[in-house]
Amino acid sequence: MMTCTPRVVRSGQPAVFTISGADVKEGTILQLTWFPIRHRSELPYQAPLRQTGIVENGTCQITQTLSGQQEFKLMISTSEGHLAEFRLYSLEESLWSLNPYKGDMHMHSTGSDGVEAPAIVAAKGRKIGLDFMALTDHATYAPSIEAQVAFEGLPLDLALERGEEVHGPGNGVHIIHYGGSESVNTWLHTHPHEIEVAVNASPKHSDERVHREIALSHLTFDRIREVGGVAIFCHPYWQIDEGYHIAEAVTEAILKDHRFDAYEVIGGYWPHEVESNAIQVARFHHEREHGNRFPVVGVSDAHGCDRGLFGWYYTVLFAPSPKLPDVAAAIREFRSVAVEARPNHDPRPVGDFELVLYTLYLHREYFPTHDALCAEEGQWMLAHLEGDANAAQELAKLQGQVAANQALFYGR
Ligand SMILES: [Zn+2]
Ligand SMILES: [Zn+2]
Repeated sequence: MMTCTPRVVRSGQPAVFTISGADVKEGTILQLTWFPIRHRSELPYQAPLRQTGIVENGTCQITQTLSGQQEFKLMISTSEGHLAEFRLYSLEESLWSLNPYKGDMHMHSTGSDGVEAPAIVAAKGRKIGLDFMALTDHATYAPSIEAQVAFEGLPLDLALERGEEVHGPGNGVHIIHYGGSESVNTWLHTHPHEIEVAVNASPKHSDERVHREIALSHLTFDRIREVGGVAIFCHPYWQIDEGYHIAEAVTEAILKDHRFDAYEVIGGYWPHEVESNAIQVARFHHEREHGNRFPVVGVSDAHGCDRGLFGWYYTVLFAPSPKLPDVAAAIREFRSVAVEARPNHDPRPVGDFELVLYTLYLHREYFPTHDALCAEEGQWMLAHLEGDANAAQELAKLQGQVAANQALFYGR
């Protein structure tokens, strides 16, 4: 199979490309044509770049400068005809210097109403290509710690964080707490005085329940950040019984004040509920149109690894590492994209325009290899849980492989 590295380069900087595996004679002349797929449609038109290279010792090395933040199609041919095609991307320095990571910040286990134990969900999360995740069971923080303890001391590249879905007393708003150092559910249920102070300080609303839910949500967002976590405003358009699970006045106030870190723009809805995701996306665009911009995440809200939702929705973000401080900064600095990728459907990212274009490219060209490497690690994590004594050693051998693949892809 022919390969070309690197696949992602810095815009405007000469890069050396290595093309290997061509089934051609030594000394064959390769004709290379680089088509800029984006700026051909802008003025001035950017013409394809043409050059030739020679095959020596089975590889062809050539230098080329790709410009503009965009995808390129590289066509390679010989005098005999077409040989291969590759897709590459040139990035501005700010994005090139960061790595893409995939994560799910909202998942359930047997710690609440999910099917599998927390550690199983973590292993299976790595198996489907997650770089960062947390168990976020309803009203309980302990399962997320249980998952960490199960892999304590093991060499993992998965950033397995703590978390919980927060249900404050008398608050119907669901809020995800990702990564902070202590339970916010526990704090809310043991600090009635602080809650009353916050409720009294909150602007009055004619509806007492609306008033309380807004005040408690703001208090919860603040508390999550105080313990070092990321606060996510969950599924406002989840439809239960006779309507959306929270009143529009509550959604309105929470979005207007945006004291949360991220809005769950793509959430764990089943195919018969896709309207809810469509409405959340529409609301996101509506708010932006009116000058209200906030970061987004996509999450599965899965309650089982083999019953759907798991892996359907996630977040792709651009950061130096998948660890909590870098993930939190990436989200707060608008470097995250929410992705809907249901089985047998093409992925649909939602977020910043440039990041959406790049995420679509990564889905085709980068994540398949990334996910296969993660799957191998996830398999060994499961083996560890089943008591396989070789698992730790095997995981140690695999540690760093995702980073090495990234380095190769980015030519670093
Ligand atoms: Zn929920
Ligand atoms: Zn949930």
